[in-house]
Amino acid sequence: MSDDKNEPEEADDLLPGVNIVLIETSHPGNIGAAARAMKNMGVTQLTLVNPKDFPSDQAVFRAVSAADVIESAVVVPDVDAAIAGCELVIGTSARDRRIPWPMLDPRACGEKVIREQAAGKQVAILFGREDRGLTNEELQKCHFHVNIPTGKAYSSLNLAMAVQVICYEILQAHLSKSSAINTDSDEWDMPFATAGDMEHFFTHLEKTLIDVNFHDPANPRQLLTRIRRMFNRIRPDQMEINILRGFLTAVNEQTSKLP
Ligand code: SAH
Repeated sequence: MSDDKNEPEEADDLLPGVNIVLIETSHPGNIGAAARAMKNMGVTQLTLVNPKDFPSDQAVFRAVSAADVIESAVVVPDVDAAIAGCELVIGTSARDRRIPWPMLDPRACGEKVIREQAAGKQVAILFGREDRGLTNEELQKCHFHVNIPTGKAYSSLNLAMAVQVICYEILQAHLSKSSAINTDSDEWDMPFATAGDMEHFFTHLEKTLIDVNFHDPANPRQLLTRIRRMFNRIRPDQMEINILRGFLTAVNEQTSKLP
């Protein structure tokens, strides 16, 4: 029997707001297999950051009945464009990094994603390149990292397999969400700052730290990484970011008056 050609082609959009972001994927077959893994789990919003070979017949072939996910995929030039409107950003990684980041296991990731998705938020989950994963810079844009536990000898899953595991956990959390929603810190009186708001804030902060001679770009050490990690851990809301931007502007005005 052919694979599953008799299934409806329409995406059911079970989980709007969950955005799978594939960064600089080399092999179009992986894009197709990832689209299929997504649609099998009711996830349909796919963003491709600078894919190496796309559009591609191979991607459509491997997607089988998820060709609609490929056709509606959004292609963007960089990761900032992919996540600008998202309030929760999660990066997937097979490796530990030098500065440890707040971690989630796949199950906790699924539950977190569903709590936010059910509250109407846009969530992005980032997947890296086949040969070298996500860059440190990309990982540092994330609130959390998720690592899929593996055997010790080989920790790197095929890209589409990793998408499958994460989307599976998201769907499981959705199916049991009546007991999972409405827990403490996920209820907040203000919308959280989006990734785009955070990038503008970090740019403004970096410039100000340089202006007041606190930060030396010639000798950066890990300062900006640690500051990013702190703010991503706090997860400021939009009001808080406006306050901080206002404060930085006041500092800028004072320093520009100095002789
Ligand atoms: N060689 C790369 C791995 C790339 S695998 C590296 O060392 O980083 C392609 C992508 O699949 C990764 O960037 C990540 O998004 C996902 N992935 C693979 N294995 C994973 C794991 N064990 N946990 C979480 N994500 C994983």
